[in-house]
Amino acid sequence: MNCLFCQIAKRELDSDIVYEDDHVVAFSDIQPQAPIHKLIIPRQHIETLNDLNIEHNEIIAHMILTATKLAEDLKIDQDGYRVIFNCNRNGGQAVYHIHLHLLGGRQMTWPPG
Ligand code: 5GP
Ligand code: ZN
Repeated sequence: MNCLFCQIAKRELDSDIVYEDDHVVAFSDIQPQAPIHKLIIPRQHIETLNDLNIEHNEIIAHMILTATKLAEDLKIDQDGYRVIFNCNRNGGQAVYHIHLHLLGGRQMTWPPG
């Protein structure tokens, strides 16, 4: 399977990995949209949010807790940050392996573009 994020998780492609364990990998986004922009992915290949079912409860919770732990480590937890999943074309998804964006280090605006 030719998946960019599977290759990053297996370290077959270079990236700035900031956290990893048996289930998730977190790395810096190559085109950061904020001073801090990390991506948290499951090692398991899941294409979109639409492919999730109740069996994925634990991995999704683990991804979110990895983001909050990173936010604390990177000292953006108190000022605040944003976490985002994009789904399919209208959601702005470009890479079809689910990933949680962690953005921080600046004031976010609402509504998003
Ligand atoms: P999406 O639009 O699918 O929610 O987000 C995909 C993200 O992956 C984008 O923010 C994009 O900059 C990032 N990205 C795409 N290719 C690479 C890559 O090769 N390495 C890294 N580190 N990030 C990538
Ligand atoms: Zn993948």
